[in-house]
Amino acid sequence: MEPQLAVHAHAVGSCGSVNSAEQLCLACGLCCDGTLFDHVRLGPGDNPTQLKSLGLPILVSRTKPPVVRALQPCSALCADRTCRLYADRPKQCRAFECKVFKELAADRTQLAAALRLVRQARRRSNDVRRLLRQLGDHDESHSLSVRFLRVQQRMESGGADAAAGDTFAELSLAMHRLSLLAHEKFHTRANPDDPARNAATEIV
Ligand code: SF4
Ligand code: SF4
Repeated sequence: MEPQLAVHAHAVGSCGSVNSAEQLCLACGLCCDGTLFDHVRLGPGDNPTQLKSLGLPILVSRTKPPVVRALQPCSALCADRTCRLYADRPKQCRAFECKVFKELAADRTQLAAALRLVRQARRRSNDVRRLLRQLGDHDESHSLSVRFLRVQQRMESGGADAAAGDTFAELSLAMHRLSLLAHEKFHTRANPDDPARNAATEIV
């Protein structure tokens, strides 16, 4: 799938105060953990060498011009869902705000409702992870979309028994349910004026 969107930085202030939108991101992390996207695209204003030295796995395509990406799940995402590189994070991370975040920041929804959506998305994401593991994919270093495609290719190459076929059907449904929620509630629409567009690959 072609790149569509960017990844948001976790909005964590350094002054110690945490507002509602920040609380939301701290409960979420889906735009950094390989659930919503599989990479952050780097661009003007980013320093890939510095980001690499700070621990981000950087990939440079062989195309002309080359496309430079930081892969997800992001190695800078901490267990408490803060960003280890917050001050140095890529431009696209600074630019992206998901739809739920925007709604909350604009007071068009309440924190409790936004947190319910995040919990729902995380449950769906965990369902996908569980089914991937059941099908033998334990590689947590890749995004859900990459892992799903890999398992799909394996299943389509034949040799899977009926039980695995049933689990794969369940996985496909789980991916679909996650994708629907992601598109409806998290991804922002492509907008030519939105600096966050064309930044990362969304889930399939
Ligand atoms: S650097 Fe990684 S953890 Fe930080 S905001 Fe970007 S994707 Fe998220
Ligand atoms: S997906 Fe939205 S709510 Fe979740 S961490 Fe990213 S910006 Fe925050």
